[in-house]
Amino acid sequence: MTEFESVIGIEIHAQIATKTKMFCRCDNDSFDKEPNSNVCEVCMGFPGQLPVINSEAVQKGIKAALALNCTVPEYSKFDRKNYFYPDLPKGFQISQYDKPLSEKGWIEIEVEGNIKKINITRLHLEDDAGKLTHIPGGTLVDYNRSGSPLMEIVSDPDIRTPEEAMAYAKEIQNILRFCGASDADMEKGMMRFDASVSIRPKGETKLNHRAEIKNLNSFKSLGAAIKYEVERQIALWNEDQPLKKDITMGWADDSGKTYFLRDKEGSDDYRYFPEPDLPPLIVTKDQLEKIAATVPEMPAQKRKRYEKDLGLLPDDARILTSDIYTAQYFEEIVSIVKDPKKAVSFMNTILLKRLKEDQIALEESPVNAGDLAKLIVLVENGEISNNQAKDEVFNAMYEYGKTAEDVVKEKGLKVVSDEGAIEKACKKILENNPDTLEDLKMGKERAFGFLVGLVMKETKGQANPKLVNEILKKLI
Ligand SMILES: [Zn+2]
Repeated sequence: MTEFESVIGIEIHAQIATKTKMFCRCDNDSFDKEPNSNVCEVCMGFPGQLPVINSEAVQKGIKAALALNCTVPEYSKFDRKNYFYPDLPKGFQISQYDKPLSEKGWIEIEVEGNIKKINITRLHLEDDAGKLTHIPGGTLVDYNRSGSPLMEIVSDPDIRTPEEAMAYAKEIQNILRFCGASDADMEKGMMRFDASVSIRPKGETKLNHRAEIKNLNSFKSLGAAIKYEVERQIALWNEDQPLKKDITMGWADDSGKTYFLRDKEGSDDYRYFPEPDLPPLIVTKDQLEKIAATVPEMPAQKRKRYEKDLGLLPDDARILTSDIYTAQYFEEIVSIVKDPKKAVSFMNTILLKRLKEDQIALEESPVNAGDLAKLIVLVENGEISNNQAKDEVFNAMYEYGKTAEDVVKEKGLKVVSDEGAIEKACKKILENNPDTLEDLKMGKERAFGFLVGLVMKETKGQANPKLVNEILKKLI
């Protein structure tokens, strides 16, 4: 049996987070708006209307390009991509063809502990089409989304498995959010994928004909569609019927199958030509430097820094950089507390676990970062024990919105570090439990823990456990 390798490239369309659309002044936020209420002559393609380039879209596009390690040339231009579709009122899309905004980037992805570099061919700007809704007996069209600014991010065919494809798409989403270029909210259709899939016998380097699966709108569909299509192509190959041309496919989420749409269009089909209504796009070195200065630390850099400088475990670093809110929350805590590992322990094992159980997003957490940090500081200063903090105090903060200090005051939780008082309690317990003391002397080590427990009970859980241990040992 021939062993196959799949060759996958991904195109990502992400809506750029701007106030207005790509070439007109309509609001870029159409979510929840009445259909066809957020439109104007330009984005409806009326004759004689002139587009104007949205500078915020250009700046955010460049920011994303730099975050993806792309090169941004001084000169780029817009082109008309001609095709007819009912949701495209102009009869063409304004895109970038041979001189894109940026080229030749890369990102790193991690799958099962292995780091892999995926090259990015280009990132260019374009405008979006409207939206069709098929209903029994007809089709509805809503032009609200028409003219929204998009960036298209095209990868090299470097991806080999559905898992790598999903990791790649998630990392791009994370990067776009970290740099503020796109909200990349899949549920609102702000990020969509096309996956090009071909196969070849392992060891060969030739690129065979591919199937481009259009409009995948979740990570799950992306992975499932690629998996299905690879298996389909292998079956065809084994029947001696490999793909004889490039094709365009659709994906049906409900049946879990790809289906044939049409032969793949080549660039000739689109009759690209330079957009006559727009000037070339010139990005000066000075402008580029200014934008570069606003690109924040990216998730991969953060992960490395957390591991190297803060001594965190790779798994913890990954959780904390899994989205921008989590990273910001963590960094606010770390700026206040002494021990980053303690911050991780409170965040990952207490707060995030509880939020997950309650299905609450971190952005809506009832305990904010500053307050969680104050709780950790109380532990660091030895004012309350770790267990008190993680249990009683945290729960009261989470459930009743109280601050750590209030809870400690109300419940009288302060740890007793008064050695005299602890010694007195220890002596009393030893006197009242001669049998346990005897067991201990006979070598039953568990008896010691039992005595510690009794002292803690005697002091109503307020004694500093470290001191209890020390003093008990001394007395015995
Ligand atoms: Zn408009």
